[in-house]
Amino acid sequence: MPIRIAIVGSGPAGFYTASALLKTCPNCEVDIIERLPTPYGLIRGGVAPDHQTTKRVADKYEQTAMMERVRFYGHVEIGEHVSLDELRELYDAVVLAIGARSDRPFTVPGADKKGVYGASAFVAWYNGHPDFQYLDPDLDTTGVAVVGNGNVAIDCARVLMRSPYGRARTDLPEHARAMIDASPIQSVHVLGRRGPADAAFTNVELRELGELSEAEPRVRAEQLPDDFEAALQGYEGRDRRVRQRNLEVLADYAARPIGDKPKALHLEFYASPVEVLGGERVEAIRCERTRVVDGRAQGTGTFFEIPCGLVVSAIGYRAEPMAGAPFDEARGIVPNDAGRVEPGLYAVGWIKRGPVGVISTNRPDGEEAARHIQADIAPEGDPAKTGHDGLEALLSRRGRRWVGFHEWKRLDALERAAATEGAPRRKFVSVDEMLAALDAERTGT
Ligand code: NAP
Repeated sequence: MPIRIAIVGSGPAGFYTASALLKTCPNCEVDIIERLPTPYGLIRGGVAPDHQTTKRVADKYEQTAMMERVRFYGHVEIGEHVSLDELRELYDAVVLAIGARSDRPFTVPGADKKGVYGASAFVAWYNGHPDFQYLDPDLDTTGVAVVGNGNVAIDCARVLMRSPYGRARTDLPEHARAMIDASPIQSVHVLGRRGPADAAFTNVELRELGELSEAEPRVRAEQLPDDFEAALQGYEGRDRRVRQRNLEVLADYAARPIGDKPKALHLEFYASPVEVLGGERVEAIRCERTRVVDGRAQGTGTFFEIPCGLVVSAIGYRAEPMAGAPFDEARGIVPNDAGRVEPGLYAVGWIKRGPVGVISTNRPDGEEAARHIQADIAPEGDPAKTGHDGLEALLSRRGRRWVGFHEWKRLDALERAAATEGAPRRKFVSVDEMLAALDAERTGT
C-alpha cells in the first residue's frame, strides 16, 4: 500500500515538497491540487513578466510533475470543491502549500480611494491571473507612488517604467501591456519609511533599475548615510553584505548626472505615507518625513505631498486562513512546529513561515515536511486511504471538472504558439478560455 500524500498548492513550496518526497520515500504517491487550471503559483502569477530567466525554474517542477508517482489536479479548490477534512480522509498526509495571497493592510486615511491597489492585486493583474483580469487599473496619470521598499515594490515600478520594446519581450498579457504602453506615466516614486540601509531590495533587482532604457533612477545624495558602517549597525552576515552593496548602488545612482531619459524612478527614503489625498480618485499621497530610531521609523512632524494618480501598496503579503486548518491571525500563518501542524497535516512555504524569502528558500521547507511525513506515517500507508481514486470519485460525483498535467501541457503549448514576436507566450487570462481551448482540442472544433 503506498503512502498517499496530497499537496495543496502548486507553487515552489508545493513542488519542492513533491520533489523531496519522491527522492526520499520510494513508497510515496503525491497528488498536487491547485485551484487554477495552471500550475506553478507565484512563478506564473508573481515573478515579474520581464524576469523570464527566473521563471525557468518551472522546467524543474515540470520534470517532477511528469513523474509516474505524481498527479496534478488543477481547477480544484480545497475548501470550495473538497473540504480539508475530506481530503484528510482520503490521504495519509496533507501538505498545505497555499502561500500568502492577500496584502498586509494599507490603512492610512484615503487608502480606499479609486486608484489605490494592493500589490497582490496589481502584480496578479499584470501577470494575467484570472482572478484579477478585470482589475482595470486607471493608468491615465503621469505620476505613480509605490509604497514599500521590498522587491515587489521594485518589480511594480520597473514593469511600469520599462520601454514598450522591453515589455513586448515579456509575458505580460495583451490587455495589461496595451494599457501600460498607452499610459502617460512619467515618474514613479518608490517610498521607504526607513533609510536606504534598511531597504529590503536585493542587489540584482536594485541594479536593474539603472539599466532601464527610458527611465533614470533618482536618489537624493542627502538621504544616503555619510558613514555606511554606522548605518549598517545591527545587520550581520550575508544580510549586511547585501545592504552594503545596495548602498553602493544607491550612491552610484545619486552621483549620476541627470541624463536625457524621459522618465524618472525616484527612490525616496524616510517617507512614511500618512494619507491618500483626492476626491473619489487619488490625486496625491501625503507623507511624513521620518528618522530611524532604534531601527524604527519615527515621524519628524514634517509633511510633504507627492502628486500621483495611482498608488500601489507593496508593504508585504498576507496569507488567508483555510477552513478546517488552524490559523494564527497575528502572524498570518498556519501555526506549526518546524512545518508540522499535527501528524498528518503539514505546512510549507509562506503559509508556514510568513511571506519572506526567495524561491529557493522553499526547498528546505519541502525537505523538512518530507522528513516529518516519513517519521509520522507508517511505511506501508493506511489501506483505508483511497488517495487519487477517492478524490476523482468525489470530484466526479460533484460534477467538478479537473485539469490534469497533460492538459496544462496543452495550454502551455497553445500559449507559446500564440506568442507575438519576441514574447515567450501569450497567456490565457480566463479560466473559461482555458477550459474552452481544451474542449475545442478534444472535440476537434
Ligand atoms: P518585503 O521584502 O517584506 O518588503 C516589505 C516592505 O514594505 C518593507 O520595506 C517594509 O518596510 C515596508 N512596509 C511594511 N509596512 C509598511 C507600512 N505600513 N508603511 C510603509 N512601508 C511599509 O516584502 P515584498 O516586497 O512583498 O517581498 C516578499 C518576499 O518576496 C521578499 O522576501 C522578497 O525578497 C521576495 N521577492 C523576491 C523577488 C526577487 O527575488 N526578484 C521579487 C519579488 C519578491 P520596513 O522594513 O520598514 O518594515
